[in-house]
Amino acid sequence: MIGVYVHIPYCLRKCRYCDFCSVPIDETAGRYRSALIKEIALVKDKYPGERVKSVFFGGGTPTALPAEDLCAILDAIRDAFPLEPDAEISIECNPKAIGHEGLKRLFEAGFNRLSIGLQATQNELLRRIGRVHTFEEFFATYQAAREAGFTNINIDLMHGLPGQTQDDYLDTIRTVAALGPTHISAYSLILEEGTPLYDDVIAGRETLPDPDAVADMEDAGMDLLEELGYLRYEVSNFAKPGFACRHNLIYWHNEPYLGLGVAAHSSMVEDGFWVRFSNESNIPAYLKKLEKGKLPRAERILVNTFEQMFESVMLGLRLVEGIDRAAFSARFGCDVIETYLEAYQKNDRFGFWDHSDPAYLRLNRLGMDHLDSILRDFRERRLIDFLR
Ligand code: SF4
Repeated sequence: MIGVYVHIPYCLRKCRYCDFCSVPIDETAGRYRSALIKEIALVKDKYPGERVKSVFFGGGTPTALPAEDLCAILDAIRDAFPLEPDAEISIECNPKAIGHEGLKRLFEAGFNRLSIGLQATQNELLRRIGRVHTFEEFFATYQAAREAGFTNINIDLMHGLPGQTQDDYLDTIRTVAALGPTHISAYSLILEEGTPLYDDVIAGRETLPDPDAVADMEDAGMDLLEELGYLRYEVSNFAKPGFACRHNLIYWHNEPYLGLGVAAHSSMVEDGFWVRFSNESNIPAYLKKLEKGKLPRAERILVNTFEQMFESVMLGLRLVEGIDRAAFSARFGCDVIETYLEAYQKNDRFGFWDHSDPAYLRLNRLGMDHLDSILRDFRERRLIDFLR
C-alpha cells in the first residue's frame, strides 16, 4: 500500500522566502497537465495493481491550475491504481488561487482534505514576506471551503517572520483556532539563500526576530495550540484528535510513496529493492521526457538496510509517539535501542527520552528541541557500521 504525491509547480506569484520548486503560472501549465496524465499512464504499467491509501496534491499552489485539470489528474490516478475506499485525498491551496465554484468542484470530485496557506493574520506581515493575499481573502477562502463541504482542513502558519512579535503569533493562533480547522501546521521561517528575503536580510533592508525570540515564540505557540485542543503529533504539526495527516504519516513512518510531477521524489520497492528516485527538477526537462513518451526520471539510488534503518530513525523521531520498537524489529530484525545503544545512552544522560512507554523510542519536548544533534549521534553509529 503506497501514498501518491502529485507536484504542481505553479503559483500566482513567488513569495519572498520561497525556495520550493515553484514558478509563477505561465503558458506551460496546459502541457504540464497533459504530461502528468502521461506520467500516470506510464507508472500504471510499471506498478500494476499497487494499492493507494492517500493522495496529496502539493506545490507550488495546486489550485493555480483550473479545478477541471486537477479533477482530470485525480481521475487518471483512480484509473491507474485501486484507491482504498477511505483514502485521504488532500490538496494544498492558497487564498485568491481558487473560488467557491472551484472548491465545490474539487470536493465533488473526491478531494476530502484541504490545506490552506495563510502564515499570519496580520496583513503587514503577509506583505513583508510577499504573500499574494490578505487575511480577509484567506477568510473568504476558508468560508467558501466550508460551504463547499470540506470539514477536514489544515491551515499553515509560520513564526520567525520579519517584524513578527510573540503577540502577533499568538493572536494568529487564536484567530485561526477560533475558525475550527482540524489541523494546524506551524513552521519556523527558514531563511534560504538565493531568495529575495535572504538578499534583503543580508543587505540590512529587512530584519528577522533574533533566534531566542523565535524559540520563545515557538514554545509559547506550542503551549497555546495544546491549550486550544490541537495536539502536537510531529515537530511542526498539530491536530484535533483523529485528524493527523495520514499522507504525511507515510513519510514519517518511512513507508513507500510514489511522487509524480516535476521534482517529485519517490521511495519504494522496485524489482525487490528499496529505492529512492526523483523526477527531473525543471519544467522544460520534465515536459520534454514525457512528450517523448519516457518516464521523467533524473536519479535513482538503491537504499541499503543501514540507510533504511537510519531513515526510519530520522523520520520516526520527528513524531511525538516516536518509533514503534516492535514494528522496527519486524522490519529490520533488530531492536532500535540495541542497534543504536551508544547514541541512545548518550542522549539519555541529557534527559532527552520520554520513558513513559517502553514499546516506543520517544523523545520528550526537550529532546525534540535537540533533534538535529541527536540524529548526528545516530548517524555516526550508522557510519561506523558501514565501515566495519
Ligand atoms: S505559495 Fe508556497 S510554493 Fe508558492 S511561492 Fe509561496 S511559499 Fe512558495
